[in-house]
Amino acid sequence: MAKDVDWSNLGFDYVKTDKRYVSNYKDGKWDDGVITEDDKVVISECAGVLQYAQTVFEGLKAYTTEDGRIVTFRPDLNAERMIDSASRLEMPPFPKERFLDAVKQVVAANREWVPPYGSGATLYIRPYMFGSNPVIGVKPAEEYQFRIFVTPVGPYFKGGAKPITVKISDFDRAAPHGTGHIKAGLNYAMSLHAIVTAHNEGFAENIYLDPATRTKIEETGGANIIFIDGDGNVVIPKSNSILPSITRRSLMVVAEKYLGLKVTQREVLLSEAENGDFKECGLCGTAAVISPVGKIVDHGKEYAFASGMDQMGPTLQKLYDTLTGIQMGRLEAPEGWIYEI
Ligand SMILES: *Cc1c(COP(=O)(O)O)cnc(C)c1O
Repeated sequence: MAKDVDWSNLGFDYVKTDKRYVSNYKDGKWDDGVITEDDKVVISECAGVLQYAQTVFEGLKAYTTEDGRIVTFRPDLNAERMIDSASRLEMPPFPKERFLDAVKQVVAANREWVPPYGSGATLYIRPYMFGSNPVIGVKPAEEYQFRIFVTPVGPYFKGGAKPITVKISDFDRAAPHGTGHIKAGLNYAMSLHAIVTAHNEGFAENIYLDPATRTKIEETGGANIIFIDGDGNVVIPKSNSILPSITRRSLMVVAEKYLGLKVTQREVLLSEAENGDFKECGLCGTAAVISPVGKIVDHGKEYAFASGMDQMGPTLQKLYDTLTGIQMGRLEAPEGWIYEI
């Protein structure tokens, strides 16, 4: 029986669910892991995560498909990305097979919290790990905790996907040889001031440029950027400091294999947006899939996209419909994309 929740009116806020998964790393190995009802984390006041922010995370969703199955979308890529993130912060990787098994266990244990098909809501899955033993001299922790909790989240767009206005940020997100390519809390801590500033100025998001030259478009604080050029083809910014979004990588496959579009991944100059070379622009990530951008504002100069401020452009809409169709089981998925719980 599903929980008595008003699924379509849920927001993107934490709702405590029944069960979570916990595994601890000590003496050089991960323990077997358990499903527990205990939502509290108890760690030393001097834990590595609290002093030096040694923590990485992931985000994915579970859906109810049209025919009533509960599935997750490409969790193997989340497992691999978390291994990359952990390695960059000198944390012991949580093995891929264990990650997939833990996702399965925690979703199954919270089966009643998976929103029904058609509600627009989904079950957000948050794996994360952190250094848990006392660390005062700067070094990696020796003990870690890996956890996954789940929380139901509402439809990202209530009443249709309205294009947003984004600004070119004066802050930098990720140094050329820094940590922009990993999913670490530290990238978000330092983005908070930039996002609060943007919101206070009336913008929905920040676009970050490459810090070295400030001429190339990278991404926003939590989403990759996708452009549609004048020929209706897909252009994706390329940089070593962009987080490899699973949504964006999947959209590239959908564009090529399902819609027959040409996909180019290359450095994208801000001047191309200024010149009106792109007709559509969207932000992609697990939360929204694609969030349309109507306008970029660069220090008072406005670069509007032909798709306008009323609705998502036609090509992005096709990409959106196809990817969500695959996720919800309405369209056949490429081999290995859908994991049934
Ligand atoms: C998580 C994240 C994304 C989106 O990645 P998905 O795997 O598609 O959810 C994009 N950019 C940043 C900085 C992120 O942290």
